[in-house]
Amino acid sequence: MTVAAYAEHLGNGVGQIRLPLPFPGLKWTNAYVIKGDAGLTLIDCGIDDMATRHALEKGLAELGYSLEQVSTLICTHMHPDHMGLAYRLVAEGSMDFVMHESASMVIERYNDWTISRRNLAGLAAEHGAPAEFVSRTAGSDRRPAWAGTAIPSDKPVANGGEVAVDDDRVLTAVHTPGHENSHICLVDSRTGVLFSGDHILPRITPVIMYEQDPDPLGTYLESLRVIEAMDIGLTYPAHIDILERGSLRARQIILHHERRLGAMVQEVKMRPKTAWQLVGDIFRPNLDALEQRLALSETLAHIEYLRIRGELTRTMEQGVWHYFRPGRRPTR
Ligand SMILES: [Zn+2]
Ligand SMILES: [Zn+2]
Repeated sequence: MTVAAYAEHLGNGVGQIRLPLPFPGLKWTNAYVIKGDAGLTLIDCGIDDMATRHALEKGLAELGYSLEQVSTLICTHMHPDHMGLAYRLVAEGSMDFVMHESASMVIERYNDWTISRRNLAGLAAEHGAPAEFVSRTAGSDRRPAWAGTAIPSDKPVANGGEVAVDDDRVLTAVHTPGHENSHICLVDSRTGVLFSGDHILPRITPVIMYEQDPDPLGTYLESLRVIEAMDIGLTYPAHIDILERGSLRARQIILHHERRLGAMVQEVKMRPKTAWQLVGDIFRPNLDALEQRLALSETLAHIEYLRIRGELTRTMEQGVWHYFRPGRRPTR
């Protein structure tokens, strides 16, 4: 299969390369390349497959560059569509590999998907999912080859840390956990442009997984408020199209989640419900297995957010959690 890479210069030494994705929802990852005196800085690099490799090389060539010129690779977070190919590029080249300092803590989990699968299966069972879903979640899905292998960064950055692009140009890392806990956005010191990774996307909202963080939605909303307060304009996200007003988009995503939180509270007003029942109430019907897993995880992130803040409470009946409004006697 030949894949047409698509690359364009965005001005101020920044180029965008679209790397194809084999997913029904998302068509590509936007990688960005910034030209410096000593070499190129590449932000995100796509999944580990031949089509991505081809698109990356072709895209760099379209911009007038080559892979050998990349001196720094920054991956915004530990998801395969952003760092799947990184271990190969780092092994082949002589580039610095930058991620947030907390990324090293999720390497084992990234390289062994059974940990997350078993964890989610356990959650699904105690939140009312049918046995068939639980066993399928725990089951045999092998880790796809395109996920690549996570490796440690040799130049980890902390929140506020700077990555030099040029003598007088840096990218400042803004730690924005929530969608994934090691997520960073990057601010270009020359232009003020925000490279937003998956933290802020146009039209869609990134999935919030209920995994290690007991309050992932709270963490994510806090990270959105950070971007909202920065008064960011032009924003280069890792998927879909460029955003004109990054801080405004952060505000819109906060409102989206506030609406969904309100909907969850409404759903349990009359009677206690399990997370699995709420998935059926809130999301469209006929979700496939992956979508069901994401919907359950997202629902848990929301109802736990509400429970932690005292707006919901829960009781266990026959091994399954039921959520309800505090002060209301759980009648079923
Ligand atoms: Zn992601
Ligand atoms: Zn992504």
